[in-house]
Amino acid sequence: MAQKQTAPSPAELEFGGPLGTAALMLLLPLTLFHLLLTCHSGPCSLLSLPSELPPISAFWSSGALLLLLFWLGFQATLYLLPMGKVTEGRMLRDKSHLQYPLNGFRCLGLTALLVGLGLAGGLPFGNLSEMLLPLASAATVIAFFLSLFLYLKSFTVPPSALAPGGNSGNPIYDFFLGRELNPRFGSFDLKYFCELRPGLIGWALINLALLLREAERQRGWPSLAMGLVSAFQFIYVADALWYEEAVLTTIDIIHDGFGFMLAFGDLVWVPFIYSLQAQFLLNHPQSLELPVAGAICLLKAIGYFIFRGANSQKNTFRRNPSDPSVAGLETIPTATGRHLLVSGWWGMVRHPNYLGDLIMALAWSLPCGVTHLLPYFYFFYFVILLVHREYRDERQCLQKYGLAWREYCRRVPYRIVPYIY
Ligand code: NDP
Repeated sequence: MAQKQTAPSPAELEFGGPLGTAALMLLLPLTLFHLLLTCHSGPCSLLSLPSELPPISAFWSSGALLLLLFWLGFQATLYLLPMGKVTEGRMLRDKSHLQYPLNGFRCLGLTALLVGLGLAGGLPFGNLSEMLLPLASAATVIAFFLSLFLYLKSFTVPPSALAPGGNSGNPIYDFFLGRELNPRFGSFDLKYFCELRPGLIGWALINLALLLREAERQRGWPSLAMGLVSAFQFIYVADALWYEEAVLTTIDIIHDGFGFMLAFGDLVWVPFIYSLQAQFLLNHPQSLELPVAGAICLLKAIGYFIFRGANSQKNTFRRNPSDPSVAGLETIPTATGRHLLVSGWWGMVRHPNYLGDLIMALAWSLPCGVTHLLPYFYFFYFVILLVHREYRDERQCLQKYGLAWREYCRRVPYRIVPYIY
C-alpha cells in the first residue's frame, strides 16, 4: 500500500486533535516548571505544590536569554564547519534526497574541549546550576517563536514538502505537529540540527554543572550516585552523536513535521527534564553502596546492548540490506519494495529499541534511591511516551505496509516487552 499524501482526516488526528494539542502546549511548560521547582524544594513531593513560589524575577533574566542565544549560535557554527562525512537521507516524495552532515560527535568533542579550557581558566561553570529556572523560561520562549516561524515558513513550500500528519488545516494542531517535514535554510536543516545538538549536548552540560556544584559542596569529589547518573547520561548523548546517521531512519526525521512538539521537546524538555535526576541529587544527596552501584551498572549495560543492537540493525538494514551483518536475517517483503525484518532483534518484539531505552531509563533513576518519586518521573513519562509512540508508529506502518504489516504483527506478537506487552 502506498504512503498517503493527502491531509489527515479528522479520525486520523493524533494527541486528541486540536483540543488535545492545545492542552499539551499549556500542560508541558506547566509540568516543566512544577518539576523544576519541586526538585529544589525540601520535601520534593511530586504530588503537592511547592509551599513557596519564588518571585517572578527568578523566572527571567536577560543574561540567561543571551547565554542561550550564544549557545544556539555556537552549536550552529559548529554544525556548519566542514568536518566529517556528508550522508544522504531517505528518498522524499518528489524523489529527491537531502544531504546531512555527520559531524555531531566532533561538535561534542570541540564543545568538551572548550568547556575543559574554560574550566582550566577558572570559569565558574557550576553557577549554571543556579540558572536553570531562567534558562528554562528563555528556552521555552525560543521554542515558541521558532515554532511560529516554522509554521509561517511552511506556507512558502510546495505541498510535497509537507509532513504527512501535520497539514490538517487546523492551525493549532498543525502548529503543534509541524507542517513542513524538513525545513531548511539552504543546506542548514533546522530539525536535524535541533534533534541532536543544542538540547542534547546542553543536557550533558547541565549535568556537568550540577556535578561540579556538588563536588564543590563536598570539598572536591562528587557522590557516587551523581557520578553514575552523569556518566550514564553522557554515554547516551555521546552514543546518539556517534551513531548520528541512525537518526535519519527515526520517526522524527522520516515522518514528523517540525513544529512545537519537536522544538519544545528538543530544546526545552530534553535538557531541563532529562537532567532532573542530577538536579534531585544536588538538592537531596543519596548514598549508594558499591554492590548496588555494580548492579545498576549491569542493568544499564543490558539496556544499552539491546538499544544499540536494535537501532544499528534496523539502520544498517534500511541503508544497505545486503550488508553482511544483516543479509542473513529473515524478512517480509512489502508492496513498497522495502522489506520488514522479522528475525534478529526485530523478531524478538516489534520495538526492541524501546525496550533497551526503558531499561536504561530505569538505571538512570535507581542511583537516586527509593525515598522520592521525582527521580522516577523520567522513567514513568518515558513508558507513556514510548507506548504512545509505538501506537502511532504501528498506525503509520499499517498505512504504509498494509497486509505485510499484519503478517509482521502475527509473526512477532509482542510490541515492546516479550511475553508481557
Ligand atoms: P524507530 O527507530 O523504531 O523507527 C520506527 C520505524 O522503523 C518504522 O516507522 C519503520 O519505518 C521502521 N521499522 C519498524 N519495524 C521494522 C522492521 N521490523 N524492520 C525494518 N524496519 C522497521 O522509532 P523511533 O524513531 O521512535 O525511535 C528511535 C530511537 O530513539 C529508539 O531507540 C527510541 O527509544 C529513541 N527515542 C528516544 C527518545 C528520548 O527522548 N530519549 C524519544 C523518542 C525515541 P520504515 O519502514 O519506513 O523504515
